[in-house]
Amino acid sequence: MVMSQLSGSIKGALARMSKAMVVDEKVLNDCVNEISRALLQADVRFETVRGVQASIKSTVNLQALADGTNKRRVIHRAVVAELRRMLDPGKPSFTPSKGRKPASVVMFVGLQGSGKTTTCVKYADYHRRTKGFSPALVCADTFRAGALDQLKQSAAKAGIPFYGSHTESDPVKVAVEGVDRFRNQEGCDLIVVDTSGRHRQEAALLEEMRQVVGATRPDLVVLVMDASIGQAAFEQAQAFRQSAPVGAVIVTKMDGHAKGGGALSAVAATKSPVIFVGTGEHIPDLEAFDAKSFVSRLLG
Ligand code: GDP
Repeated sequence: MVMSQLSGSIKGALARMSKAMVVDEKVLNDCVNEISRALLQADVRFETVRGVQASIKSTVNLQALADGTNKRRVIHRAVVAELRRMLDPGKPSFTPSKGRKPASVVMFVGLQGSGKTTTCVKYADYHRRTKGFSPALVCADTFRAGALDQLKQSAAKAGIPFYGSHTESDPVKVAVEGVDRFRNQEGCDLIVVDTSGRHRQEAALLEEMRQVVGATRPDLVVLVMDASIGQAAFEQAQAFRQSAPVGAVIVTKMDGHAKGGGALSAVAATKSPVIFVGTGEHIPDLEAFDAKSFVSRLLG
């Protein structure tokens, strides 16, 4: 994300507000408008920005504040709270527990090219490397030629057990077989299922997802979104949400030039938190995401 740009603009707006001789309605409005412009420039959805704007203004009621109240601090706090709220739906996502029997099942969904397959491996590797999980990968993407080999090679590179089929074309069957195999395997406590993508959220993809969810009953469905998606994110995330119980979002390619703000709309569309961001093409390039520390860094 062009984080530094967004961060600079928001910090600038708050600094100008803080330096004002008298903090009145005009100063508050200028500050809020400047923050709104910065968010829009970062591709955050218009409705979301309007919500942030309205909430700050309704929280900060300058007239009602008692004499002697530090108005600058009240505004600053309201801005921080609203930015956090924009990123955090207030409902934590399911987190797998190490050693759990039967193993937790985490299913990945997203459009083709979003980075879904790469992120499946990153997610499995992250849990093994940082938390000591024993993960396994299942390729239920029978649509894209090459998806199976890509995941298989990547799993081998990471040293993670893998299941997929070159002969079975029914994604539901492959998903069920893979989950069954690892669920009962000694030591395995996390099964990551990669599903098919398409270029658009077409009906066939959404129906296939619904069937795979129905057959494997995942503990968590993760929606993978490319940071460069822009304004289309909200509608896309909503379409996925209608077909699968999306419980978390991972935004990929945050290392690129994308503004990233659009992908954050997925939080509002799915009412699910961003749990990780992808920061490169390699397996370790995955960072845990926390709305609170993100906002602190944005303003820090
Ligand atoms: P899928 O079609 O959604 O499964 O997408 P892939 O996992 O095949 O990824 C598509 C492309 O995006 C590949 O070239 C990946 O290396 C690349 N990619 C995935 N995640 C990231 C990321 O966080 N940063 C960068 N720079 N590239 C990524």
